[in-house]
Amino acid sequence: MNLTVWQRRIFDAAMQSHAQGRLGHALLLSGPASMGKRQVAEAIAQRLLCSSPRSDGFACGACRSCQLFPAQQVGLAVTQAHPDLQRIGLEPNEKGDKLRTEISVDQVRRLGQWFSLTPQLGGAQVALIDPADLMNSSSANALLKTLEEPASNRFLLLVTSRPGRLPATIRSRCQKLEFRLPSNDESLEFLAAEGLRGPEALAALSAARGNPGQAAAWMRDGILQLRGEVIDSLNAVGSGRTGPVETAQRWLADENAELRLRFAAELAVEGAASAFQRPLAGRSVLTVPGDFSSISKWFDSMNRTREQLKAPLRNDLVLAGLLREWRTMFETGR
Ligand SMILES: [Zn+2]
Repeated sequence: MNLTVWQRRIFDAAMQSHAQGRLGHALLLSGPASMGKRQVAEAIAQRLLCSSPRSDGFACGACRSCQLFPAQQVGLAVTQAHPDLQRIGLEPNEKGDKLRTEISVDQVRRLGQWFSLTPQLGGAQVALIDPADLMNSSSANALLKTLEEPASNRFLLLVTSRPGRLPATIRSRCQKLEFRLPSNDESLEFLAAEGLRGPEALAALSAARGNPGQAAAWMRDGILQLRGEVIDSLNAVGSGRTGPVETAQRWLADENAELRLRFAAELAVEGAASAFQRPLAGRSVLTVPGDFSSISKWFDSMNRTREQLKAPLRNDLVLAGLLREWRTMFETGR
């Protein structure tokens, strides 16, 4: 299994606890999205189930358990499931055309019953819940019952990028494995190994706030382009070349609306904080109105609007209002 430097740190910490007999029955893997938390959870699960782990801490890949350990691949039917492994995630709705939005209490109750069975391969039993923050309050309560009755060789791995949404009663019963952003050098090394180099890699890493997994995904999906478009739009609104309403509608019609609003907020604050911006060749620089306290209020409002995007509100009006404010800040600042 190929783990990055920062993933390896988490994996090694867990395995060290395990070697000392201190590994918790419940592990909480948390940290920013796109850092490969799930991958580490899978590596830990496979290792805990493996009957002859390697000296470097990883599963052997050859024993019966490892052979049964199904690859986590979307769209590929798993023909032979591992009897001592459960993966809990969002299930399809009754019509089967969409995923549910929450992990249901039934799923968690079934998990509790499954944990009371004897492991079929005679080793451990491991369950993985991802994204754990999508349990509703009844599911979380049901899980609490399971957590309150730990049994030896039974492990529960919770994966989340929003640990704050889990009840404190659950968090406090888990051993925490917290993913942290790696150093800039480590991130750039990782990106280079992925074939992503040069000033673009540096720009992607900075846009992703130092999150290398995010930077890599954004480079592949052309998201940096999107950020450039947000700069152009804001400049056009700021100089009066484009109207706020038109821009708001265009942004919200886009599938990446949330990301556009996030970039708008971040770019404004970044621009206001640094008097000197180094433009990338061929890329635009955001012109920011001078008043830092207005900008920081605007940043907060933009983020609030972003968080409300899924709610049935007139977000177009709110966003158009914010963009009008952006334009006004230039006029009053003059
Ligand atoms: Zn094995």
